[in-house]
Amino acid sequence: MKKSLFLITFLFIIYQYGSSMEKITFRSIGKVSANQEYDYNTPLKQLKSEQARLVIDHEYAEALLNINECEYLDVVFYFDRLKEEEIRLSGKTMSGVERGSFASRSPLRPNPIGVTTVRLVGVNGNELTVEGLDALDGSPILDIKCCDTSIFARGIESDAVHLSLLKADPRMEINNNIANRQADLLLIKAGQLHGHICPGLAMGVMAALYAIDFLEIDAAGMNDIKVVCEARNCLTDGIQFVTGCTFAKKSSFTYSPTDDVAFTISAKSGKSIRLRAKDDAPDIIKSISDEGNDKAFATLALPFEKLFDISIIE
Ligand SMILES: [Zn+2]
Repeated sequence: MKKSLFLITFLFIIYQYGSSMEKITFRSIGKVSANQEYDYNTPLKQLKSEQARLVIDHEYAEALLNINECEYLDVVFYFDRLKEEEIRLSGKTMSGVERGSFASRSPLRPNPIGVTTVRLVGVNGNELTVEGLDALDGSPILDIKCCDTSIFARGIESDAVHLSLLKADPRMEINNNIANRQADLLLIKAGQLHGHICPGLAMGVMAALYAIDFLEIDAAGMNDIKVVCEARNCLTDGIQFVTGCTFAKKSSFTYSPTDDVAFTISAKSGKSIRLRAKDDAPDIIKSISDEGNDKAFATLALPFEKLFDISIIE
């Protein structure tokens, strides 16, 4: 097929001084490969539920360099099966509300361009496997961008209600994560204190959560936890972060060094548990095939008893 056939021309109608039109030409950089049975009548949810492939033309393969570092991508594509006469400027959305096309995601718009945020599942040469795409099989791809969500993060940080709650209780989010046993989120947040995310920090988070579970410490009891710490390493930061017992709070944290990497965690009830990292824990972690930060998150999924000796102190 001739390369010129891949050229797609759009008419961008820009009224300059009320009269002239500007024509802009884009080039397809690849094609969507998806379920061939789907068409514009397929429910969006069904379209997005299946994985699709973005097959990028070889001449643009260089533009995929290090794309695996972008977990989320914005895919810009062309609704190539829409007819000119179908284009309209407003209509009913799927929820039945009347909206202008600029206030909706309808494909029926002056320039039939789709923009969808997807999750990158895999890269194989010039082919990307993605989740969440709502483009039909064969749709020409115009562009791919690494997704930028910084504006949403700014929104969360500047949310007045959220800020006032955090001012009143700076550990609100952490305690919610503990209540919901969200070890992965706690590891990310502990990483903000620790400076990096590592398997040792993950073990500290695991040990603290295990103790909170075992000692049946509820939200009210979090302020009464006490820690006796026998080691000063990455685990210590994980323990401090999750329990809230820190070097600065002398009444809740005692540093009593021994040759063990161990922590005794106590509840107000007087019940205590000593958790000692097994000597072969580093070897077990080394055997995890994931690398970098993924190794730390994979550590969270290891059986607790494989990593720690558990002693109950009544
Ligand atoms: Zn570390």
